Amino acid sequence: MKAAVYLSTLGCRLNEAELVSWTGALEDQGHTVVSRVQDANLIVLNTCAVTSEASRKSRKLAGSLHRKNPNARLVVTGCMAELEPERAAALAGVDMVVSNMAKDALVAEVLNKLDLEAMPQMATEPESAHPYSDPPDASEAQSALLQLGKRSTPRSRAFIKVQDGCRNHCSYCVVTIARGDERSSSIANLIDEINGLHEESYKEAVLTGVHLGGYGHDLDTDLFTLVRALLRDTDIERLRLSSLEPWDLPKNFSELWDNPRLMPHLHLPLQSGSDTVLRRMSRRCFTDEYRDLVTNLRANVRDLNITTDLIVGFPGETDDEFTESLAFVEEIGFGHMHIFGFSPREGTRAEKLIGRIDGKTIRERSRAMHRVAARMKEQHMAGYLGTSQPVLWESGRALEDGRTAFQGYTDNYLRVRTVGIELGNRVTMAKLLEIEGTPAERFVAEV
Ligand code: SF4
Repeated sequence: MKAAVYLSTLGCRLNEAELVSWTGALEDQGHTVVSRVQDANLIVLNTCAVTSEASRKSRKLAGSLHRKNPNARLVVTGCMAELEPERAAALAGVDMVVSNMAKDALVAEVLNKLDLEAMPQMATEPESAHPYSDPPDASEAQSALLQLGKRSTPRSRAFIKVQDGCRNHCSYCVVTIARGDERSSSIANLIDEINGLHEESYKEAVLTGVHLGGYGHDLDTDLFTLVRALLRDTDIERLRLSSLEPWDLPKNFSELWDNPRLMPHLHLPLQSGSDTVLRRMSRRCFTDEYRDLVTNLRANVRDLNITTDLIVGFPGETDDEFTESLAFVEEIGFGHMHIFGFSPREGTRAEKLIGRIDGKTIRERSRAMHRVAARMKEQHMAGYLGTSQPVLWESGRALEDGRTAFQGYTDNYLRVRTVGIELGNRVTMAKLLEIEGTPAERFVAEV
């Protein structure tokens, strides 16, 4: 029996990349990936646990998917399932939990173990209300938003999982616990995968991993060698790096951008601008090293856009440390920032640290950091007003007047929108006319 599979995910680019590779594996075996959960006889949910809120949303989504199609088999995998396998298995309608270590072989594992013909266990026991099943209010929009990575949809940008796991032990991080030791895909396989996507007319490949900078650690190679090989041996138009920890990068790393197919955007998580906080976080990059790295990259990579992640309210964070963090952020200047209030994760060392910051203070610090981030982003974008930039236009939305609204990203990851005809999955020059959104969000452009 052929499977009609509904794939859903929350969380990071790595989760999205896994959906792309499962889609390929399923379609290669003649199964179908469907866009409506009601049309599926198998549902696979890739969960997240980066914060307790992400774990809660993962459980909620599992419940919502099961209610929308109680007859389908439901498989749960990902970091929430990895950290709480019993709890995941006890969720309403769950037929199988697949660990993160078994994810690369998930399609084979599921299709071997699950008998698609048979009715799911749950349907025959209408009275068994599982204590963990979530209230029935999961929104339609949420599942539609979270369904990603099918090859049969617009072929503009694909996330490529190049490695998994992390050998670092940042004290707040649950991902390193959930994803295990570092393991990398071979350069040869990644060249084939990206050339395969190029043949399917994808324009951009985004290299992603848990610790991208750790690529090749287990294969006696490294990220620099991988990127150089991909630029040499693939024909895809654009290559982009996703989040990259600001350490273990070779001095000549910026040389890679001599090739214009490598996009001038780097997401370098800083996490705090205070060295004493960074020490309690067990981060391996302090402000001096971060400043030197950014200065070197900006000196050698034209139009480089640097974005970052930052935590406010880490245990023990004093007013002085927060002021230091703000000042360092302003000194560096970022094109965009993801700002998180500290969220203790079970099983991490930070969970046991003394000096927990109260919620009100965390919210105040988050607002203050967001104000700085918004001002920096507006200043950064203002520098591009009136210029023409290459934009990869992604899927469009039809307008009543017959034209289409398109959205896309410049090579240095500035968001742009325009109205036009047949721009989908094309890279064109676009004149950036005005900045839209408060705080500044994207450009309005003409093509
Ligand atoms: S580098 Fe640190 S934050 Fe990143 S995945 Fe590893 S342990 Fe987590």
